[in-house]
Amino acid sequence: MTTVLHKVRLIMDLRRDGITDTKVLSAMEGIPREKFVPAALKSRAYENTALPISFNQTVSQPTVVARMATALELGDRLKLLEIGTGSGYNAAVLSRLVRRVYTIERFRPMVLGAEAIFSDLGLHNITAILGDGMRGWSPQAPFDRICVTAAAPEPPAQLIDQLAEGGIMVMPVGGPHQVQTLMRYRKRESRILEEPLDQVRFVPLIADVAEETQAS
Ligand code: SAM
Repeated sequence: MTTVLHKVRLIMDLRRDGITDTKVLSAMEGIPREKFVPAALKSRAYENTALPISFNQTVSQPTVVARMATALELGDRLKLLEIGTGSGYNAAVLSRLVRRVYTIERFRPMVLGAEAIFSDLGLHNITAILGDGMRGWSPQAPFDRICVTAAAPEPPAQLIDQLAEGGIMVMPVGGPHQVQTLMRYRKRESRILEEPLDQVRFVPLIADVAEETQAS
């Protein structure tokens, strides 16, 4: 089957999973997922599953990427912070839906790998940063939207602080070895409104930049 047919099948899967936002579907259609997965997995790039990437991390399942994008209520005037660049796939999809994406990753080789793909694809509204995403990115705060793609038992206080008034943050909340809850947080008049959305499973959010190691 050709890439185009694989892509069409994936979009049909997303629709079947209840993703109806046409902007989200067309952003997903426009991003070549095969560029973001390891060479050995390229033939599986359009399967609606999470796939392994380097450093024992994963590129999220397309349905989950689409659910998070939908839950964030995106628009082309918004500035978004993503925590957990990983392969760069989620940031690439989000970059089609907002004005500007900042994405933070704790593994340097992942930042460099994702930057190379963004540049190759001409996605010039994404800035990838090496750092501890639990601390957010104060030089660019506040953010209209924050998308956290790794799980923690609680939302990090600094991310909540860096969310703009009226802003939305989406994050998997729960421990590493349990099913987590995808939570949506809205900041309204300095109060935080919480809303559970879905059951999900993500790798954990880990404090601090990783030591320099070889990709596995
Ligand atoms: N968004 C990614 C993609 O599209 O490929 C998938 C993210 S993967 C599920 C989670 C990522 O979060 C991993 O790459 C991991 O290294 C990163 N991560 C975990 N803790 C972090 C932290 N404190 N700061 C930044 N990145 C972190």
